[in-house]
Amino acid sequence: MEVCKYKNKCGGCNLQGTDYEKQLEIKQKKVEELLGGFAKVEKIKGMDDPYHYRNKVQAAFGFVKGKGIVSGVYESRSHRIVDIETCQIEDEISRIIIRDIHNLLPSFKIRPYNEDSGRGLLRHVLVRRGFKTGEVMVVLVISSPVFPSKNNFVKALRKLHPEITTVVMNVNTRSDSMVLGERNITVYGGGFITDELCGKKFIISPNSFYQVNSIQTEKLYGTAIEYAGLSGSEVIIDAYSGIGTIGIVASDYCKNVISVELNPSAVSDAKKNASKNKVSNISFYKADAGEFMVRLAEEKKHIDTVFMDPPRAGSDKAFMSSVIKLAPDRVVYISCNPVTLKDNLKYFTSKGYEVDRIQPVDMFPFSEHIECVVSLTRQ
Ligand code: SAH
Repeated sequence: MEVCKYKNKCGGCNLQGTDYEKQLEIKQKKVEELLGGFAKVEKIKGMDDPYHYRNKVQAAFGFVKGKGIVSGVYESRSHRIVDIETCQIEDEISRIIIRDIHNLLPSFKIRPYNEDSGRGLLRHVLVRRGFKTGEVMVVLVISSPVFPSKNNFVKALRKLHPEITTVVMNVNTRSDSMVLGERNITVYGGGFITDELCGKKFIISPNSFYQVNSIQTEKLYGTAIEYAGLSGSEVIIDAYSGIGTIGIVASDYCKNVISVELNPSAVSDAKKNASKNKVSNISFYKADAGEFMVRLAEEKKHIDTVFMDPPRAGSDKAFMSSVIKLAPDRVVYISCNPVTLKDNLKYFTSKGYEVDRIQPVDMFPFSEHIECVVSLTRQ
């Protein structure tokens, strides 16, 4: 196995240089150590081909004296950009598009943004590719909405890459480390791409969360649906629903879905996704999941199953205690952090739930991150 030449500079892949089978063993062991006390941990679902799985590729742009334009990732714990030409985990087409944008900049006299002086235009480029549909979205993150000769730039880029289906300018005037600003200006195509997961179509906008590993996401969702054991009559919650993926996939197997998500652009995508897939037994709420669950618990809403997929920090007390009040027969927990998962499982098991099954899924080969699906049943 060839070791990535940026290994010591780019902080992206902590397991670079470790054989893939060994990586899976390390992750299996970690999950067993953390969660083995709750139930038997199934064998981790790995990838047949663990390379180039990331459907979202992004690069920071800058200028280095003597080197010229650089584009890539920030060196760990610094603001120096490592110029990246190849990457083992990113989608290869998206990576080439970024390199070609890099090479086009001088002839269009577009300067990368300089964080210290605040001058220059291009801050980041983000490319997302629908692995099933082949649709490609390029997001040019810029420091000001004025992009001279943008139409010619897009024309030149599309000449090199006719597979690009939409180009968006994202205006980011922030001084923190967030890649995207809030304002999007579509300069070509519809401003989103469509992809497919588990037989459903999904619209993805620049700011919405979308799982980066499409191949493994189908395994993840498939496991979650299997663990839920739905009969068709259930009222379910899809909490932290993003663009509505889990709820829309589950809608075929239950009576009603209630989805809750904080990010407004994700909720707007989710609504479009439901109508795109002709799903009518689902409703979407833009809210903090914890506050929303408190309200449902106060209303004494009848809920059969809760799907929850919180961010790395896990779920807060408001959410957790409301689940207990709602008393669903089953909870299916999808977690991207086994440490916070453990804390949340401790709470559930102290309040009358039992962990039935634990399935790790390798969503992030070469990195230490571990995703798990866990099912819990009310005793
Ligand atoms: N289930 C989705 C998204 C999972 S990522 C999928 O599989 O694609 C976690 C999601 O939680 C993100 O979309 C994020 O915007 C959302 N989120 C983060 N904090 C939240 C909160 N307090 N309340 C509701 N949603 C939240």
